Amino acid sequence: MNHFNINEIRAQFPILNRQVYGKPLVYFDNAATTQKPLCVIERERDYYLHENCNIHRGVHYLSHMATEAYENARKTVAKFINARKAEEIVFTRGTTESLNLLATSLGQLLVNQGDKVVVSAMEHHSNMVPWQQMLLRSKGELLVIRMDKNGVLDLNHYEELLKQKPKIVSIAHISNTLGTINPVKEMIAMAHCYGIPVIIDGAQSMAHQVIDVQDIDCDFYVFSGHKMYAPMGIGGLYGKMEWLEKMPPYQFGGEMVDKVSFEKTTFNKVPFKFEAGTPNVGAALGLETAVRFIQSIDRQEVEAYEDELLRYATERLSGIESMRFIGQAPKRNGLISFVIDGIHPYDLGTIIDKMGVAVRTGHHCAEPVMTFFGIPGTVRASFAMYNTKEEIDIFVKAVDKAAAMLR
Ligand code: PMP
Repeated sequence: MNHFNINEIRAQFPILNRQVYGKPLVYFDNAATTQKPLCVIERERDYYLHENCNIHRGVHYLSHMATEAYENARKTVAKFINARKAEEIVFTRGTTESLNLLATSLGQLLVNQGDKVVVSAMEHHSNMVPWQQMLLRSKGELLVIRMDKNGVLDLNHYEELLKQKPKIVSIAHISNTLGTINPVKEMIAMAHCYGIPVIIDGAQSMAHQVIDVQDIDCDFYVFSGHKMYAPMGIGGLYGKMEWLEKMPPYQFGGEMVDKVSFEKTTFNKVPFKFEAGTPNVGAALGLETAVRFIQSIDRQEVEAYEDELLRYATERLSGIESMRFIGQAPKRNGLISFVIDGIHPYDLGTIIDKMGVAVRTGHHCAEPVMTFFGIPGTVRASFAMYNTKEEIDIFVKAVDKAAAMLR
């Protein structure tokens, strides 16, 4: 494992050297997607140059090679989050597809007419709309764990909701709007006291935190590769084998079947039962390389560095007139959301973009969070290991200047 060295890390991400509007790019939209290191880009390129082939069904050399590489990627991801077996990892397009898979398949297994599902007040639309739509069909009810003005979940309220015997709990590990790190281990233990399975949306945590699915004892953990330095179009779903074996397939077609006749079809074993059709093999290999990239640098040093970026940015932004932070949980990670009273976040984002600073503005696919705070949206700056304090200085200067123009 290498010590954290910012110059060596930045050298892996050539896109950080580009200019926009003639200004050096400051990329603070990492919660939307991270940039990709050269090793990941090269791995995917290499696959298409030398190994490209459809997997699992060919008898020839390339197909064997690609199949082995794809299955090794599954093993690497499983080890990364400490799953018991590689088969507990289902490759998907990402968090959204994983959650749709669960709402459909686990929903079919567990949720009957009038049943309830628990989510939290800070969920991304991906961890809310699939449940809501499933519950519309079963005439059930979505129960929502309250949060306070700092963006901290109310665990007493959660306990009350658990007493209503919901069938599933699905919550974010880290909020993409507020940065709150939820106490998932504790929340999982609470649900398990009532025999309720828990899904953790890890979209915002995989790149920043060490994940141990056995330690937190979640039943499912879902994530997107593109938010952890891997290519787009790949992600995953970890599920405990006893659940995956019981769950019905989500999509039907090639690869997920065992025996097929016009009268009857039987299904392949886990995880293939959930991987209908041709997967994104090149991206899965890119994901494996991204995992190795993350593992190659001291995780604690990276975490400490990212925490320091967050602390520094918060301190610097605090000096700006009428600054209001949205999400002030004591345990936060990776991002800052804010509004400046009297200024629309979109206007601010548009002006600082022209100064080379890329942030996200709007509701961040979490409209109920904005409704809760009574705002149209926020400006969100989200960090990755390759960002620097110098970039934060440029960003804060740009925000200050834009705010002065808009006041
Ligand atoms: N959940 C959270 C917490 C997220 O931040 C995101 C992406 N912003 C998603 C789900 C959806 O991820 P994807 O678009 O990669 O499927």
